[in-house]
Amino acid sequence: MSPITTSLFELFTIGPGPSSSHTIGPMRAGYDFRTELASLNTSDMDGVPARVRTVLYGSLAATGEGHGTQWAVLAGLGGMRPENCPTDVLDSLPEENPEYEIPLGGAVTKTSRQDITSDTLRVLDLEHPNTLVFQLIDADGKVLHEAEYQSIGGGSIRRPDAPAPHVADVPHDYGTMRQLRALLQAGNGLTLDQIIIQNECALTGASEDGVLAGLETVLAAMEDAVHRGLAAEGELPGPLGLYRKAKAMFKRFRKTPLASAQLMLALDAYALAAAEENAAGHTVVTAPTCGSAGVLPSIAHVMKYQMKLPQDALRRGLCAAAAVGLLVRHNASVAGAEVGCQGEVGVAASMAAAMLAMGRGYTMHVVENAAESALEHHLGLTCDPVAGYVQIPCIERNAMGAVKAFNAFVIASSEVEQHHMVGFDQAVIAMAETGHDMNRKYKETALGGLAASMVNC
Ligand code: SF4
Repeated sequence: MSPITTSLFELFTIGPGPSSSHTIGPMRAGYDFRTELASLNTSDMDGVPARVRTVLYGSLAATGEGHGTQWAVLAGLGGMRPENCPTDVLDSLPEENPEYEIPLGGAVTKTSRQDITSDTLRVLDLEHPNTLVFQLIDADGKVLHEAEYQSIGGGSIRRPDAPAPHVADVPHDYGTMRQLRALLQAGNGLTLDQIIIQNECALTGASEDGVLAGLETVLAAMEDAVHRGLAAEGELPGPLGLYRKAKAMFKRFRKTPLASAQLMLALDAYALAAAEENAAGHTVVTAPTCGSAGVLPSIAHVMKYQMKLPQDALRRGLCAAAAVGLLVRHNASVAGAEVGCQGEVGVAASMAAAMLAMGRGYTMHVVENAAESALEHHLGLTCDPVAGYVQIPCIERNAMGAVKAFNAFVIASSEVEQHHMVGFDQAVIAMAETGHDMNRKYKETALGGLAASMVNC
């Protein structure tokens, strides 16, 4: 089994929702092309550069308008990056409709929303369903320089013409939960968070302090999404006319006298808040995706505000969540388009259950059992976003995922560890197989399930 060589911060990407493939990836691609243009030699070009044109293909062309892809691309070309752009950038750009200047060698070129088009006809020869092409053109539209990008999921991008990146060796070699457990039992005193952080340092060249600071940034971005969502109300963008619920739920949480009901209301309100922020196209953290970006923040918020756990418990918990998310990415998938919602909300719940168990100081067995239980009870969950918007069933599904994550932790921390029958790796294999066999209708095509019944019935 090959070792995991994915960075934590590829798993936890900060940026505007509602879809990491349709907003974060394209914005990153726009920024990357802008950077390339700045150092381009224009003297031997067969024409005078005038503008930058962008063409969206495949799924970006089909559903990009609803997801704000065009504005995300424009923001990237304008010099914004997902991790530090204004949280409401996808709201404000359509109002401002700016024309951006882009540094080009020693000169400047320009682009605006009118330069971004969608080609829904070119489908069959696409190497990847989420493809976009940037072209530097002259005043007559002749292409002087171009670059193709693919938005390959989770906000990551790839250039088909680029050589494969060099991947550094990691000090702790594991590709399954079983191997990770063996490392922890090897007797060298290493903890799970140390393994995760040391591997991250080796992969990225960051210092330990740098990785810790990055984890704090991720936690802060999750908390911010919950706070913003709890304060917001009104209708979400898109044709469904769906209203936000988190604020009302939070009010009810504050008024309820029942301690037992309070926890459920808090989990629901926090998860809805972050998921509604995602649906609004505001900044969230992929955990593991934008569509499931409410589950982990909900559990983290409960750990901080209801359980009053210290910040280092949250940080250690986030490392456990990362281990779970990275293992699933490595051995199966976290993309709804590949395995259905079991890979998004199911994996988010699994990560959240592990985070809670680790943050509460339980053993690695309990962490694994909690993660397994949460994933096991999402097996077979389909992806059927109504009208292609990440709203129904996605937003409430995040609340369901948070509650299931909590329950998985409760069961795992109450049972005799050794009596837990199903291993995490076994649940991941089952998820991959189920996803493979799942009809295409139920894998982010908006052709089956609720997406069909709400239109046809
Ligand atoms: S239903 Fe599909 S789009 Fe919605 S959260 Fe689940 S996987 Fe994502």
